[in-house]
Amino acid sequence: MCGIVGIVDAGGVSFPLYYALYALQHRGQESAGISTFEGTTLYTHKGQGLVAEVFNKHILQGLPGTAGIGHVRYPTTGSKIPENVQPFKFHYQGLDLAIAHNGNLVNTAELREEYERRGQIFCTTTDTEIIASVIADALRTSKSMEDAVRLCMRRLRGSYAVVALVNGVVYAFRDPLGIKPLCIGRIDHGYIVASESVGIDALDGTFVRDVRPGELVCIDKDGLSSVQVATANRTAHCIFEYIYFARADSIIDGTLVYDVRRKIGQDLYDASPIEADIACPVPDSGIAYAAGYAERSGTPFVEGLMKNRYMGRTFIMPTQQQRERAVRIKLNTVRGNLKDKRVVLIDDSIVRGTTSRRIVNMIRDAGASEIHLRVGSPPIIAPCYLGVDMPTRTELIASGQDVEAVCGSVGATSLAYIPLEDLVEAIGCDERNLCTGCLTGCYPVEINGEKSCHCVVDYVAGTHQSDLSAFRGEKERTA
Ligand code: AMP
Repeated sequence: MCGIVGIVDAGGVSFPLYYALYALQHRGQESAGISTFEGTTLYTHKGQGLVAEVFNKHILQGLPGTAGIGHVRYPTTGSKIPENVQPFKFHYQGLDLAIAHNGNLVNTAELREEYERRGQIFCTTTDTEIIASVIADALRTSKSMEDAVRLCMRRLRGSYAVVALVNGVVYAFRDPLGIKPLCIGRIDHGYIVASESVGIDALDGTFVRDVRPGELVCIDKDGLSSVQVATANRTAHCIFEYIYFARADSIIDGTLVYDVRRKIGQDLYDASPIEADIACPVPDSGIAYAAGYAERSGTPFVEGLMKNRYMGRTFIMPTQQQRERAVRIKLNTVRGNLKDKRVVLIDDSIVRGTTSRRIVNMIRDAGASEIHLRVGSPPIIAPCYLGVDMPTRTELIASGQDVEAVCGSVGATSLAYIPLEDLVEAIGCDERNLCTGCLTGCYPVEINGEKSCHCVVDYVAGTHQSDLSAFRGEKERTA
C-alpha cells in the first residue's frame, strides 16, 4: 500500500503536496518523496522516513513549480533500499518524467525478464519501474500519453493507481478494475488527484469525483481533461480499504468509510448479540466499528485501551519478536474501565493474531471478567497479491483454522466475525465489484496457483489530446 498525489496549482505545489502527503501518511511510513517541474527542470526530493522527517520548509522552498507529484511508500514489493523510494525520475527522448505508483503488479517478473532480454537496465527492484518502462516503450513509437497508458493497461496485470509528471503536466490513471482508490479535487488555483479524499480536505479543496477505473486524467495549466482508456465488465475495489486501510474520514468510490465501519459495528451486534457491560474499541481502527456496535446494542461505549500516538503501525516491524514488543508500547489499558467488566472488544481485523492475543491478555490482566472479541472483517484466509501487506497462508491465523480454534488461540471468551454478505451490504455495492481475494481466496486477476474470477477488459480507441511533441519542442528550443 502506498499513497499518491498529483497537483497542478498556479500558486505553487510543493507545500500543498507536502500537506496532502501528510494526510495520506497512514498509507505508508517507510519513505516519502515529491517531484515538481518548473521551466525546463524536474526537481525531486525523497528519502526514507515519515513525511515530516523527509521534508522541511527549506527543502520545500527548493522544489519550485506549479505542477508536481508525491508519494508515501509502504513496501509490498521491492526491498527497503533507498533506490526504491518514489517518485522515480526518467529522462527520455527530451522528456522529463517522474512517476509514483500505488498497487502491486502480479506479472512483474515476466515483464522484467522480457525487458532485460532486450537489454534494458533496471535501477530498482520495484514494479513501478516496469510501469515507467512500458510508458517509455510506448512513447518510442507514439507521441501520445494516452497510447502509452493504453499499452500499460494492456500489458500490466495487477493493481495500479499512478501519477506521472511529464514536463509540467500531471497524468493520473487507475487500473481497469479500479482496485486501488484515486480521486479528483478542485483546489484554489487548480486540481489535485489523491489516493484518498482526505488529501483534498487537507488543502481545503472540494471533492469532485473518483478517477474511473481505466480512465486517464490529464491536468495542466488550462485545467483538467480525461479519457476512458479501458473499460471492464466489473470493478474490483479493494475490500480491505474499507475494513482497515483507508482513513475513516475518507470517501472511497462514493462511500464514506466511517459509515461502512459504523454499519458493520451495528451488524456485528445483530449477527452475534452478547450481554456485556462495555463496548470497547481497539484504537484507532476499531473506533467507528465500536461506535456502531454500542449504538445498536445499547452497551456503553467505553475506552479500555489508550494508544500511544507517537508510534508507527506495528506491522512495520520486520520480525515477530519486534512486532510483539511493539504492541505493548503502542497500547496501554485503562484499568479502572475494565476491572470486573464483561467487555465486548471490537477490532477491524485479525491477520496473524499477534495483536488480538496481546490485547486480550492485557485486558484480562486489567481485571476484565469476560472478553468477547468482535471483528469487522470475515476471517482473512488468503494472502493479498495486489498491494496489501498480508502474510502467507501459514502465517494467517484463520487460514486452515475454524473460529473456535482462533478464539482459543487468542484467548477470548467468545469470537465472532462479520459475515461477508453483511460487509458487502455495508459497503453498498455488489460483491462482484469488490476484490475479496483475502477473504475468499478468489482473485479478480489471474495469479499463478490461485483461483481467479473472470474479468473482461476492453481497450477503448480514444481521441485524447495529450500529444507530447509540444513539450519536446520546447525542451529542444531551450536546450
Ligand atoms: P495481527 O492480527 O497481529 O496480525 O494484526 C492485526 C491488526 O493489524 C489489525 O487489527 C489491524 O488493525 C492491523 N492490520 C491489519 N492489516 C494490516 C496491514 N496489512 N498492515 C498493517 N496493519 C494491519
